[in-house]
Amino acid sequence: MLRVRNLVARYGDFQALFGVDFDAAKGQIVALIGANGAGKSTFLRSIAGLMPSKGGEIRFQNEDIGALAADEVVRRGVSMVPEGRRLFRSLTVEENLRAGAFAGRAGRWRLETVFALFPVLRERRANPATALSGGQQQMVAIGRALMSNPDLLLCDELSLGLSPAVVKDIYAVLPKIRDEGVSIVVVEQDIDMALKAADEIYCFMHGRVTLRGAPRDLGREAISAAYFGLE
Ligand code: ATP
Repeated sequence: MLRVRNLVARYGDFQALFGVDFDAAKGQIVALIGANGAGKSTFLRSIAGLMPSKGGEIRFQNEDIGALAADEVVRRGVSMVPEGRRLFRSLTVEENLRAGAFAGRAGRWRLETVFALFPVLRERRANPATALSGGQQQMVAIGRALMSNPDLLLCDELSLGLSPAVVKDIYAVLPKIRDEGVSIVVVEQDIDMALKAADEIYCFMHGRVTLRGAPRDLGREAISAAYFGLE
């Protein structure tokens, strides 16, 4: 479904990605792990068309999307939950969700399906997004991305700033979204969380993929080495 080959990304003179190969199949949850600055966000932003790639290929559903602008990528069925949620602060929960539909496609995900997934958002629909707890705001960010009816959902650090219990609740929703036919790529700093949630793990270090595999096939030592560069 998503096939990335030899992806290179730069911020000016600074090279952030050095030839990344990556695959996500339909119906998979793939987790990207790695330390701060490893290039995980840069990778997601490159897929989403939020930064131009400087080499390599990004194919989604057999189409080359590497040169498309972000709004075109959304229309092809790729949607992003950005780091820090980036909600529209002055808008209500419902308005934030509807904003997601505006850029996207028609399909299964509508207000009612998002409310079925996150019932608390139905209760809070008329509240400004800023009145919500961090976890509820994360739900709005996920719901807003779903409203564009993606085939692939890119999630950047869903657990940022949230308590472990809330993180658990958020992660419990991912398989439900996957079971509706949406593949998910999630950036996660917490290795245990990633191992539990994902069908496949990619470890990034210094802009390169240092390890990939199914959680059951990856030993802790190999993950630590790939994550921290330790032997
Ligand atoms: P984090 O968990 O901190 O978000 P990350 O693995 O997602 O880490 P990136 O945010 O992709 O890492 O950053 C990769 C590298 O690119 C880092 O060295 C970072 O300093 C650099 N970088 C990121 N954004 C910019 C930018 N706008 N301008 C210059 N350098 C940047």
